Amino acid sequence: MSFTIHGIGVSGGVAIGHAHLVSHAKLEAAHYVVPRSQVPEESSRFDAAIRTVRAELEELRAGVPSTAPAEFAAFINLHLMILNDSMLSVAPRRVIETEQCNAEWALKVQMDELLAQFDEIEDGYLRERKADVIQVVERVMKTLSGQPGYLPPPPAADPDQNLILVARDLSPADVVQFKQHQFASFITDLGGTTSHTTVVARSLAIPSIVALHTARQLIRENELIIVDGTQGVVIIAPDGQVLAEYQLRQHQFDLERQKLKRLKNTRAATLDGVAVELHANIELPDDVTEARDNGATGIGLFRSEFLFLNRTDLPDEDEQFEAYRKVAVDMDGMPVTIRTYDLGADKPVNGPQRIVTTPALGLRAIRLCLTEPRRFVTQLRAMLRASHYGKINILIPMLATAAEADQTLALIREAKRSLDEERVPYDRGIKVGGMIEVPAAALAIGIFIRKLDFLSIGTNDLIQYTLAIDRTDDTVSHLYDPLHPAVLSLVAGIIKAADKAKVPVALCGEMAGDTTLTRLLLAFGLRQYSMHTAHLLDVKQIVLKSNFSQLKPLARKMLRTNDPGKLQALLARLNS
Ligand code: PEP
Ligand code: MG
Repeated sequence: MSFTIHGIGVSGGVAIGHAHLVSHAKLEAAHYVVPRSQVPEESSRFDAAIRTVRAELEELRAGVPSTAPAEFAAFINLHLMILNDSMLSVAPRRVIETEQCNAEWALKVQMDELLAQFDEIEDGYLRERKADVIQVVERVMKTLSGQPGYLPPPPAADPDQNLILVARDLSPADVVQFKQHQFASFITDLGGTTSHTTVVARSLAIPSIVALHTARQLIRENELIIVDGTQGVVIIAPDGQVLAEYQLRQHQFDLERQKLKRLKNTRAATLDGVAVELHANIELPDDVTEARDNGATGIGLFRSEFLFLNRTDLPDEDEQFEAYRKVAVDMDGMPVTIRTYDLGADKPVNGPQRIVTTPALGLRAIRLCLTEPRRFVTQLRAMLRASHYGKINILIPMLATAAEADQTLALIREAKRSLDEERVPYDRGIKVGGMIEVPAAALAIGIFIRKLDFLSIGTNDLIQYTLAIDRTDDTVSHLYDPLHPAVLSLVAGIIKAADKAKVPVALCGEMAGDTTLTRLLLAFGLRQYSMHTAHLLDVKQIVLKSNFSQLKPLARKMLRTNDPGKLQALLARLNS
């Protein structure tokens, strides 16, 4: 029977394909059916993984020095106890046998059951042991997959068959892996409008939907589904008529995209001659091809932290240098703004994880960089070395205080000094800018204007922190509002202050790619937009049809009102 579910569309277009189910963000496990004859083998594979992890933990316990704090051994004992619990070490075998499924899936099913039991526990301490269960299961999953990262490639199906990934939740690290795996679309039960998962999904330019709540529960493996990313609708088991209708829509959407491609080399300027720069946000060096195909005149945000994800080791200086150099060279003299790694929060760095209650307010971005100066300087040296091969700018994420800017600038000087000593060339005029994405920085913008060469407004975080809404939490997604008067006032204020001081300012949050806001930002004085590549030509089209002189008075009115209705009406006039 055909039915429909609704969520938040994060990337437009239509995808038609077969569902491929995966599970927890940290514990991606594909589901597949194991032929009856191979069930004993699958059970043995599971047993072998349990044995390996048990041996690993026992070895760890044996290696704990006698001087180590008692919690160390207690911690390992706890993990061994969890591993040996029959729920995890025995019951999955039954699931493999009865459901004829793969070991990863069986383990995941059992873990979910165990975690649900933990949720019922009243005792806070015991409830928190959930994290230990997850860590133990992660170890087993890792052993089963034989590699870091838990998202296995799609099963070898018909290569012409589109696969649509159906997950409860995905991490940004998972999504960036899709760049290699070529899914036609993905849909998740959780996820916020500007979560990093969503942001990366947009850059893939595949239709996707988050916050569906029941997709994983209702959709079966291999079921035919339609994803309408524009409307945020998923149609499960569509009938022939609906399918034909969506095939037509898909065709029309593709035609529109083709038409837009004609604007690729057109200069982005308004009808009355106000020129703007349209830059691309990228996650990996290979994204440059897509950026150039969509006419980007620079990279406004290279989220360098994605080089650090999906791996067990950290990229060393040479590896980072090669990645940055490649982007600089491929952009052929056009500006490339590389952000120093914005790890932490939903992009955890490898290594032991602490339980953090509010990760977005914790040790992330520049705060994390400054706690590990050696690791940070490694990155700064790599960026400086790469600057010899193109036009690189360094961007510092999440600045809030003058001290953070000063310390970063001091570390950049140190990196330069070390390169000078080694006679390694770099661009001596390299520009250093800061992301303005914390309200404190926006309100005390003078600090950063005085210290830095340029600014870039990160509206995803600026909105998160201004409106106090967790960007990864779909239950508060409806409160995400770029048109909130407080947000508008901060954004307009930053641009105005930077303009007055003649410090270049860009905007690289999702607002930059939102075509309903293109004219408003133009009227605020924005001249550099940076966005995921999929929206570059849409935004250019709006710029080309705009008349700057007519926009300013309306934008001024928008800044003077607090009334949401009036704001919407004025925006509609601006865009008419
Ligand atoms: C932002 O916060 O707007 C931004 C561009 O950075 P990120 O989305 O990577 O946090
Ligand atoms: Mg940010």
